Amino acid sequence: MLSKRIQNLSQSATLSLNAKVNELIAKGKDIIAFAAGEPDIDTPDFIKEACIKALKEGKTKYTPSGGILPLRELLSNSINARKRAEYSPSQLTITAGAKMGLFLVFSAILNEGDEVIIPSPYWVTYPEQVKLLGALPVFVDLPEMSGFELIPELILEKITERTKAIVINSPCNPTGAIYSKGSIEKLAEICLSRKIFIISDECYEELYFDGNVPFSPISISKELREITFLVSAFSKSFSMTGWRIGYVASPNSFAKAIENLNAQSISNATSFAQYGALEALKNPLSADFLSSLREIFQKRRDVAFQELSKIGLSVNKPAGAFYILANFRRHLVSLSEEELLNKLLDFGVACVPGSPFGARGLFRLSFCLSEDRIKEGIRRISKAIESISLE
Ligand code: PMP
Ligand code: GLU
Repeated sequence: MLSKRIQNLSQSATLSLNAKVNELIAKGKDIIAFAAGEPDIDTPDFIKEACIKALKEGKTKYTPSGGILPLRELLSNSINARKRAEYSPSQLTITAGAKMGLFLVFSAILNEGDEVIIPSPYWVTYPEQVKLLGALPVFVDLPEMSGFELIPELILEKITERTKAIVINSPCNPTGAIYSKGSIEKLAEICLSRKIFIISDECYEELYFDGNVPFSPISISKELREITFLVSAFSKSFSMTGWRIGYVASPNSFAKAIENLNAQSISNATSFAQYGALEALKNPLSADFLSSLREIFQKRRDVAFQELSKIGLSVNKPAGAFYILANFRRHLVSLSEEELLNKLLDFGVACVPGSPFGARGLFRLSFCLSEDRIKEGIRRISKAIESISLE
């Protein structure tokens, strides 16, 4: 018999739809997949070569559980420089992706019955991890009309004496919103005065558009860094989703516990993959890679926004990440989300239904494909919608 917690665990809506779509494609079905939340661009060669070199040099053994020292050192320097912080290498733990990093953080701070505030729409994994630990996700709806901006007053309304933490994710999956500095500062004040942890998931930190660099709560002050866990990864920034290298920057008093949890769950992040990540931080070519990544995704964002607007679907223009939420609510009068998903698949296009993100009727399109494919995919969406109106 499965444990009660596992019985209640949902499958990952994003990963399962990816798998379903890939299966259909393997069977020969022509599908334009807006489902996968990962860059279609390959990992840069200089990163791959550093990993191959590490393998050849025999860097194939356990590493320290917090990660190899040069990576922790360079990463703390890089975070400190980019975000005006003062982390020491010992505050950083290298994990198997940001997903594992989040799980370590939740495990380190949550007790049974604690509440975690999650602004909605949210990334599918947060509530599942919180529930697995016997804690309760508390959702705060961010209005579509305000571009899904973080509204601290709405957060305040949901705080109780059981509130342990709030998760913020800017740039946000699935909304593409980047929270303003003012909103983050207001939230920070609230969290400091109420002794609430901030978990800042900054996985998409390098994917921002129009020069709108995301602001992090860790940049505010040392006091803030003592209540904030920064979670991020190389996955999206360097097209390294399969490498499974992420990290947590923890308050001083939690760093050792996070490292111990990593040691007791995965021992360490894969040794040779850590050397690839180290190269990403070291190599001057990384700066060019990141700016070309932003340029490519900004153009795709513009195409997706324009084409979806043209076919009459209401959308907010994403400020970052590579997702856009399209409002299909008026097409869901006679159809369930699943029926709409299947209808879209019949027309050769896949998008992720909104309910698992806490946003029923808002389907997520990830623009990790060429501009031509984006246009063609949206043309197919338009045909699917026409066919619904004719039914
Ligand atoms: N946070 C968010 C918001 C994500 O979209 C994802 C998905 N990649 C993750 C965390 C997990 O990242 P990783 O692949 O590094 O585990
Ligand atoms: N984060 C990506 C997404 O939302 C990858 C899949 C996952 O880890 O959920 O699609």
